[in-house]
Formats: sequence, C-alpha cells, structure tokens
Amino acid sequence: MKNKVFINDVIYDATEAKISVFDRGYLFSDGIYELIPYFKSKAFLFNEHFHRLKNSLNMIGMDNPYEDKIWINKIDNFLENCSYDNFFLYIQITRGVPNDLNEEILREHSATKTYNPTVFMFYSPIKNIMGCSLNSVNAITLEDKRWMQCDIKSISLSFNSYAKTLADKLDAYEAILIRDGNITEGCSSNIFIIKDNVIKTAPKSNLILPGVTRAFIIEKVIKNNDFKIHEESFDVGELLKADEVFLTNSSQGILSIKKIDKHIIKTKSENNITQKLFNSYKEFLE
Ligand code: PLP
Repeated sequence: MKNKVFINDVIYDATEAKISVFDRGYLFSDGIYELIPYFKSKAFLFNEHFHRLKNSLNMIGMDNPYEDKIWINKIDNFLENCSYDNFFLYIQITRGVPNDLNEEILREHSATKTYNPTVFMFYSPIKNIMGCSLNSVNAITLEDKRWMQCDIKSISLSFNSYAKTLADKLDAYEAILIRDGNITEGCSSNIFIIKDNVIKTAPKSNLILPGVTRAFIIEKVIKNNDFKIHEESFDVGELLKADEVFLTNSSQGILSIKKIDKHIIKTKSENNITQKLFNSYKEFLE
C-alpha cells in the first residue's frame, strides 16, 4: 500500500489504520480538521493553515496536543513516506477516548473526563490545479441549513456532504449556500462574484469558514493586481446577475462557475477577470 496514515505517532498502511469506536470524533463529531496543500512537495500557506487549526481547537475547547515545533517534526517525518509532488495533507484532531473508559457509561454528551486525543493524518494527490488552464464548473444553490459556527473547521460535515451529493447528482461541483437571502459560501469553498469590475465576497463572520485561499486571493492576488474588492454580503439576485462568479479553496485554487442551477453566467471573454486572477495565483505556485 502506497498511502500511509499517521495515528498518534504510529504510521500505518492506509488500509490497516484503525481508531476506537468510542472516540468522541466517531460518536459526536467532536473534532476539527485542516487540509494543507503541497505543490512541488512544498507546503503552500502552511502557517495560515496551522494558525486556523489552532483557532479551531481553541473554539471547541480542546488543548493543542503538540507544541508547534513538535507538530512540524511529526509532519516532516510523516511526509518522508509521501511520493506525490502535488498533494494535500489532511490533519484531524478529535477529543478521543476517555482515559478511564467506564463499562457502564460508554457514551455521554458532556466532555468532562480526561481524554487521549486522536491525531490523525493522511495525504492524497491533488489533480488539476497545476494544469495550464482555469477550469469551469457548475453549481447549484441551496438553503444554508448548517449550524451557526461555520468558522470552525469542524469534522461535523453532514449537511455539507448531503449538499455536495445533491450537487453531484445534478452534474454540479458545488452547492452555493443561501442564508436569509444572502450567499454565505460553498459547501467546500468561498464564493466570489464580479460585477462591473468590482469583486465581492461575503465578509468574515461565524457564517463562513475563513478560507485560507480566500484571504490569499484577496490580499495577494486581487489587491496586488489593483482590482476592487468589497467584503460584503450579496444576495441571490446579485449572484445571478454577476458578470463572473468563481470559487476558491485549497485543493482547487480558483474555479470559474459557468452555470448556477439553470442560469448561465455569460462572462465576456475580453474582460475575463477570473482568468487574470487565476494566472496571477498560479505564478505563486510555481
Ligand atoms: N468553506 C468551506 C465550507 C470549506 O469546507 C472550505 C474548504 O474546505 C473553504 C470554504 C475554503 O477554505 P480553504 O481556502 O482554506 O481551503
């Protein structure tokens, strides 16, 4: 087996890796995760991802299992097994199993015991992003029925999975979520619209995940290229009237959205800002 898995300091063949059914991650989705892309074997925006991982832990009241230096050592050591050039590193930390698992109470909501956290990592190849051209995808829209702490990168992704499955059945890559009439984000991405050369994306709040790619595109790509960006709410009407719509995430970078439900986004090719942003973004990966 080529792929390896790290669980609490032991490296397994991916198919051999196992955790306890009493892990609170399994019973309650009590945990967080992070996904760090590597291009040409080099981590892209590692510090930003690492910072968000620590924030997520903090927001669910979990101690960080390792100090920064120890994390880096463990990750480097684990990735010595990785033969991919372009891949993502998935890190998941769950509250784990109580130290003294009580035979009579095997599951309780409150996390009042002492736990052995489960630190789990694997890697997987990234395709497409290093390809030459900007890819276009379809999207659907859907009411955002997630909880109100979408700024935590929680492993509790039932609604996201449900929505992405629905999108897939409708030949779409992403489900764009709508809360109180406004676009929040995609199920696995942040959403940007462009109208009359002005770019808009939902502001940071508890209603969206603060995407690492979102921040990079705003600060290093959009602003450096002198495009106007407004981090403010926009509604479905604006989404559908946009000249261009695109999404961002760490594994895909930038994807242009060409169709939303039945509506075609008619981007004028002579003024394709998404393409310009994509070209500029790609230079950072090289
Ligand atoms: N929003 C959600 C709900 C996500 O799951 C993701 C990525 O997985 C993003 C946004 C984009 O975040 P990032 O750019 O850090 O990958």
